Amino acid sequence: MGTPSDKLDVDSVAFRFPDTRKNSVARQRRRACLRAAALVLLALLVYYISGLSWSGDLPELQVSSYRSKTVIDRQLFKGPLPPAENSTACPQVDVLFPGHNELDSDLDELYASSAFRSNAYDLLGGAIQIPTESYDDLAPVGQDPRWEIFGTFNDYIEQSFPVLHAKLKLTKVNTYALVYHWQGSNGSLLPVLLMAHEDVVPVEPTTIDDWIHPPYSGFYDGTWIWGRGSCDDKSSLIGILVAVESLIKKGFTPSRSVVLAFGIDEESAGTQGAGHLAGYLEETYGKDGLAMILDEGGGYGTPYGDDVLFATPATSEKGYLDARIEVSASGGHSSVPPPHTAIGMLSSMISALEAHPHETQLLRSGTPFLATQCFATYGPEYPEKLRWLAEEARTSDVALAKLKTGLLAADRRNSALLGTTQAVDLIQGGVKVNALPEHVEAIVNHRIAEHSSVDDVKQHILGVLLPIATKFNLTLDAFGKNISAGTGNGGHVVLSDAWGPGLEPSPVTPTGIADPFAILAGTIKATFTTTEGYDKKGVIVSPMLSLGNTDTARYWNLTKHIFRYDHSGEGAVYGDIHTINEARLAEAYIQQIRFYTKFILNTTDK
Ligand SMILES: [Zn+2]
Repeated sequence: MGTPSDKLDVDSVAFRFPDTRKNSVARQRRRACLRAAALVLLALLVYYISGLSWSGDLPELQVSSYRSKTVIDRQLFKGPLPPAENSTACPQVDVLFPGHNELDSDLDELYASSAFRSNAYDLLGGAIQIPTESYDDLAPVGQDPRWEIFGTFNDYIEQSFPVLHAKLKLTKVNTYALVYHWQGSNGSLLPVLLMAHEDVVPVEPTTIDDWIHPPYSGFYDGTWIWGRGSCDDKSSLIGILVAVESLIKKGFTPSRSVVLAFGIDEESAGTQGAGHLAGYLEETYGKDGLAMILDEGGGYGTPYGDDVLFATPATSEKGYLDARIEVSASGGHSSVPPPHTAIGMLSSMISALEAHPHETQLLRSGTPFLATQCFATYGPEYPEKLRWLAEEARTSDVALAKLKTGLLAADRRNSALLGTTQAVDLIQGGVKVNALPEHVEAIVNHRIAEHSSVDDVKQHILGVLLPIATKFNLTLDAFGKNISAGTGNGGHVVLSDAWGPGLEPSPVTPTGIADPFAILAGTIKATFTTTEGYDKKGVIVSPMLSLGNTDTARYWNLTKHIFRYDHSGEGAVYGDIHTINEARLAEAYIQQIRFYTKFILNTTDK
């Protein structure tokens, strides 16, 4: 996955869970709780023996071994709910099995067969062998020969899925981006869109020897399928195609049309792929013309104890802004310098920005609060104090403030979920040691909080830098507006969008139990609970905020129901994506195919 102007490694933060587990503390607490439980039993025995009847006074006595004595005294703390139960704080839908249950189980049986599996591994391996690398400096399609490899990739797709190509209508958008339309039997239903991207992050040539198996081998070693794109995002792309091809071979026709759209530059600017696809899709299906969109994104894991799986589809994405700060000042010989050079003034500005980070907020209406409620309600090993605060915070502002402080203290990465981040990533200035710098600049990368906006960020930067511009006697031009600051004797400062307008935080997908989100959640649960070897007490599906952006950032007009989810998680990826030794657990890839199959059946059945 990538960002609007790229450089993206957010996958590594966006979909990992904050490490708030404190195992040794949990063990101590469990021991303390056992002692408390023994005392309670003893008390029960004493009361029983003394003939007093009070059974109605302790309605929650049995709820949890996590209750400390203090909490029991408060009579508030409920402990973790078993995942099979339900809570209004994080409503859960039931497992959703496809209505075509015979077809679904036939396909599960097929997907378990070794012939099917080895063919599926070959299909993914072949796709990995075509290095569809994405570069930041690619000229538009037609002007840069490096795009031609996408033609080879598309030929491979056409040859590999003959049944699908005979049935679905294929449109090539901007030559290499692909849209497939699978006509449904009921024209009154809005289509569902499944997305993936053809491109991959380039392999750094100096790291090729560090790969256990060559990055474009697509080698299956009996457990893993190796190579760039095996996880991001060719297992999704090929997984979707395998699921559709398999459904067609079984004679299935969806009631609701199914659309597939594959971009070609998600890992860089996105302008050549999704940028063109968005226009085509809106022209073809209309504004709000799709029922829902599923793209890559959040996965699953067991962050709060092995018993409960949490799947976290991203239902919103942070915004984005790269702000440029340019300082110009008079040059001259450095033997007679002013007290502050342009570099010194820019440094003051950078220091001031870092001294004034954007304020974090935990809002009850926001996705981070909702996700916290899900973890606190169902996570067996969620930190007790935070769990209690999370419950109190539903109604108490004091507890809400304490919960925010607690979350930030528990994991530094939570500040990225709760606020706009800023990072000064680029700086340039000075050409000669005996010449005063005349023009220096820095670029600050921002990921904008769900509750904020591009304009808020610009106002914040201006608010912090205006006093400094005044102090140094600089004139100030802030995002196209002349602001009264200094006389200009000291020079000039310009604030601007570094590469183009920023991206607002995405609209938040509704996650009520009557919304399409429920179909996704029920499908995730159906996939897990029918996976061979499934041994959890339950699956919780929690909405999540994505810290990075996918191609969906261009698709907001198409539907309000956008989900970013890969049926992938702990143990499914060897190492990490965007680096050496990207490999997909073959079994996990089969589970992706199962998930896509059930998702198509569930969205088009109902
Ligand atoms: Zn990706």
